Amino acid sequence: MERQGILYVVSAPSGAGKTTLCDAVVDIYPSLGQSVSFTTRQRRGNEVDGVDYHFVSRERFDAMVAGGEFVEWAEVHGNCYGTALATLRQAQQQGRDILLDIDVQGAAQLKRQHLPAVFVFIAPPSLDELRRRLAGRATDSEDVIAARLENARGELEQAHWYDYIIINDQLDAAVASFAAVIAAERCRTRLVYTTLRHRLGLPAAAGIQE
Ligand code: 5GP
Repeated sequence: MERQGILYVVSAPSGAGKTTLCDAVVDIYPSLGQSVSFTTRQRRGNEVDGVDYHFVSRERFDAMVAGGEFVEWAEVHGNCYGTALATLRQAQQQGRDILLDIDVQGAAQLKRQHLPAVFVFIAPPSLDELRRRLAGRATDSEDVIAARLENARGELEQAHWYDYIIINDQLDAAVASFAAVIAAERCRTRLVYTTLRHRLGLPAAAGIQE
């Protein structure tokens, strides 16, 4: 019996190590999918269209917004990013667990819609460390780094309403914590009881939807 897919909404200030952490937990749990967002941002060197993002023009993005195709969307650092409703529906139908790497504005939209999701915030150990990590990236200019640092504080102020906060100080420990969150969420009674009851011939439980 297929259980419902779990949606993990993962946010972090850029430079906190979100991509590395998401990739690491997908290595641990290969059945975890990563939602592919739509963006108007320019493709970076090693990025692949349809894999990292669906890269679209501003016109196409605006048309998708007008058509109600996004479950959430936001402007981040001057570019638009959105999660298509179709992407989530597909994962849900397949009973697949997926990671949604989205900014705090988008995550807040999903929270307001009471979307059943697990909200995970990845934080840097300090703003100094974040600055060092951003400066170490070859891809971004000084201006971009300054803008990202300015945004980081505002994003960190939103961490309190997430279900989990992972402080990415030591990468191995952070990966272990993230993997533990996934393992724990997969053991939720509402997800496991039905399977258990069918296997063991237990009665249906009033509080658990089947
Ligand atoms: P980047 O351009 O560095 O790939 O991503 C910049 C920011 O956009 C990150 O914080 C990332 O989480 C966010 N982002 C990526 N996809 C989406 C999306 O579909 N919706 C929202 N709201 N933010 C997104």
